[in-house]
Amino acid sequence: MIRVHEQDNVAVVVTRGGLPAGSRLEGGLMLAEPIPEAHKVALTDLVAGDAIVRYGVPIGYANRRIPPGSWVHEGLMTAPAAPPLSDCPLATAPPDALPPLEGFTFNGYRNPDGSAGTKNILGISTTVQCVAATVDYAARRIKADMLPRYPNVDDVVAITHPYGCGVAIDAPGAAVPIRTLRNLSLHPNFGGELLLVSLGCEKLQPARMIPADALTVLDEEPALAVMQEARQGFGEIVDTITGLAERKLEKLNRRQRVPCPASDLVVGLQCGGSDALSGVTANPAVGFAADLLVRAGATVIFSEVTEVRDAAHLLTSRAATPEVARDFVREVAWYDEYLRAGGADRAANPTPGNKQGGLANVVEKAMGSIAKAGSTALMAVTGPGERVRQKGLVFAATPASDFICGTLQLAAGMNMHIFTTGRGTPYGLAMAPVIKVASNSGLAARWPDLIDVDAGRIATGAATVEEVGWEIFGTVLEAASGCKKTWADHWGLHNDLVLFNPGPVT
Ligand code: CA
Repeated sequence: MIRVHEQDNVAVVVTRGGLPAGSRLEGGLMLAEPIPEAHKVALTDLVAGDAIVRYGVPIGYANRRIPPGSWVHEGLMTAPAAPPLSDCPLATAPPDALPPLEGFTFNGYRNPDGSAGTKNILGISTTVQCVAATVDYAARRIKADMLPRYPNVDDVVAITHPYGCGVAIDAPGAAVPIRTLRNLSLHPNFGGELLLVSLGCEKLQPARMIPADALTVLDEEPALAVMQEARQGFGEIVDTITGLAERKLEKLNRRQRVPCPASDLVVGLQCGGSDALSGVTANPAVGFAADLLVRAGATVIFSEVTEVRDAAHLLTSRAATPEVARDFVREVAWYDEYLRAGGADRAANPTPGNKQGGLANVVEKAMGSIAKAGSTALMAVTGPGERVRQKGLVFAATPASDFICGTLQLAAGMNMHIFTTGRGTPYGLAMAPVIKVASNSGLAARWPDLIDVDAGRIATGAATVEEVGWEIFGTVLEAASGCKKTWADHWGLHNDLVLFNPGPVT
C-alpha cells in the first residue's frame, strides 16, 4: 500500500494481483471488499461531498458515503472543475537552480547547426500524401539495395503523412502541420541533410514547407525530386529519388560519433497506458532523471496538455518568469478552446485501460503525470510543432495521443525519448530512441523484451526513486551513444508519424 502525501485519505494497493476482502493493512485497517492492484482504498470514513485527497490535492468528491477499507473508484466520486486559467499564479515560486552536474557525455553526431544527433539517419521528406506510396517504395529499395554499403548510416526514414493537399492551407490552424513537417525534416538525427519529394501541383509547395531562411541549418541546398517533372514513367521517378539518396548516403556515411556533452540532449517525456502506480513509481523516477538531465545542461521537454491541465496552477507558479507562465496559459487556453469547439473537454482523456488501472479521472492522471517533469523551474513554453531552442525544462504543448505527441516532440528537436507506461504499449519511433519505463513489475515481468526499465521496484521496496532515476539517466546516455539498443529499436517497432492538424480540410 502506498500513500503519497500525508494529507491523503486514500492509498494505492501495490500488492501483485490486488488484495482480498478482510486483508489487514498497516495500521490495522481491514479491507471491506477486494481491491485490485493499483486501485485506491479509503483510509478514513468519507461522507457525500468529502474531498478524496491523493497527492495532497482533491482528485474528486465523494458522491455517497465511503466507509474506511472500501474500494474508491470512479463511480463513487465527482471530478473537480479545472483550475481557472485567469487565477493561475504567474512565476510566484520558481525553484532555485539545482547544483550543476559536470562531466557527463554521450557519443553523438555533431551537426552543422551545433545540434547533436543520437542516430545517423537518411530522412526522406514529402510535401504531400500523393507521393507517400512512391516514397515508401523507393525507401524499401534504398534500404535493401544501398544501405548495406553504408554501414555508418543507421536507417532510412520516409516522413510520409496525410497532409499537403485538400486542406485550407492559409487557415490559422495550418501553421501547425506545416511547421511540424518543416521541423521534422530538419531533425538533428538527419545530419543537416535534406531530401524532399514533391508531387508538383500540391498546395504545400516545397518552398512553403522549407522556406529559404530555414535552409541555413543545412549543409547544402536540399535535394529535391518533383514527380510531375518525370517524362519516362515510374522507373525514372524511383531512379531520381534513389540517385539523390545515394549522394546523401555517401555524405552521411562519412560521419563518426564524437563525445558530446549531455547538454546536447533534447529529451522528450511522455506517458501512455498509465495506471495508478505511474504517479508513484515510473513518473517520479523519470522526474528525478529529468532533474539530473537539467542539472547536466540538457533540454527536457514535457507535453500532453490535457494531462497537465488540472495542474496548471502548479506549473505557472513554477515558471522562471511571468512571461513563461503567460505563454503556458496561452497554450492551455488555446487547447481548452480547441476541445470546446469539438464538443469535448479534458475529461475525455482517460481511457478504459487507465480506469481499469486505477486512475479514476483526469485530475488523478494529471497529478501523477506532472511528476515526470521533476522539480526544476519551467524555462520556456512552445506551441505544437515548434522547435525548442532553450535549455532546461520546457513545456511543448501537444495533444496526449502517443503518436501525435511523439511526432510533435520530434519536431521540437527531441533526440531521446523516455516513455512511461503502466498498462503496457509496444510504442517506438524510428527517428529517435524510445526508452520505455514500466510503472509496475508485473508488466516488466510479462514484457521483459519490450520494457527497458522496471520502475515497479519502487513499489515493492526493491529500489528507490533515486536509484531508478539514475538508472534511467544512465540508460539515456547509453542509448544516445548507440551502444545500447532500446527494445523498440531491437525489434524495429516504429509507429507512424501522425500530424496534428487543427485546421479545416476542404
Ligand atoms: Ca501520451
